[in-house]
Amino acid sequence: MVYMAPSIHQLQDAWMPELPEVETLRADLDREILGHSFMQAEVIQSRMTRGQGLEEIAHRIRGQVVRAIGRRGKFLLVHLSSEDTLLLHRGMSGNILLELRRDPVKEHQHMSLELDDGRFLTVYDPRGFGEIRVLDPAAVAERLALMGPEPLGPAFSAEYLARRWASRTAPLKTLLLNQSMVAGLGNIYADECLWAAELSPSRPAGAVSLAELATLRHRIQEVLSEAIECRGTTFSDAMDLYGRPGTYQHHLQVFHRAACPRCRGQIQQIRVANRGTSLCPACQR
Ligand SMILES: [Zn+2]
Repeated sequence: MVYMAPSIHQLQDAWMPELPEVETLRADLDREILGHSFMQAEVIQSRMTRGQGLEEIAHRIRGQVVRAIGRRGKFLLVHLSSEDTLLLHRGMSGNILLELRRDPVKEHQHMSLELDDGRFLTVYDPRGFGEIRVLDPAAVAERLALMGPEPLGPAFSAEYLARRWASRTAPLKTLLLNQSMVAGLGNIYADECLWAAELSPSRPAGAVSLAELATLRHRIQEVLSEAIECRGTTFSDAMDLYGRPGTYQHHLQVFHRAACPRCRGQIQQIRVANRGTSLCPACQR
């Protein structure tokens, strides 16, 4: 069966970078810039700085050595030798690119950082819903305080979900998208994980059994791990650090597909949590 890539119009409310796409960037940045220092920093637009001054951000980056690269949910965290952290969120359309030379500032360019080996780390974001800030450890902790556990970490268990979702009547998908329940899932992977677990996105979360939650947790970990191996899902112009697309869009089982690969039934498109949602009504209960 041939997978037809959805048009950008179909995806306008659907696609944004999720955990696998941010984790791919984290791993690449870890390999490329760890131990390097930022010789120059230029913040070009104020749209994503949430009130932090452009020169303040640049000043706190200039001269700093990259001592670690972390990720929390969809946030990328570049830890600097000053103990400050450069916090980056890709929003709905953000690309972070490693470039070999300085080009003239382009449209939608938000930041340009020059590394000590002459390469440039550049942030582009046409829609500008992302975030670029430099924060001290207390401010980073405060920004991330309400986030739920990492889905690939040990705190994310069936028992945890049962506790958080007990007697909740909200649909399963709504709670999977809620970053305070679990960090990093968005529209595409929520649909894929629910299909893999054979659970309906609109089922009340409190009515899911512990055994079903154990399956859901397992499937979430499987789907995310496979997507990370594929370097994420790419629609439209979302790219990795090197400007290349991921390949997981070729492995999607339910998201914007016509027929269910499991039962050959027709995939339905509905709205849950006010988001376009793909499901197989025959397989997902
Ligand atoms: Zn099916």
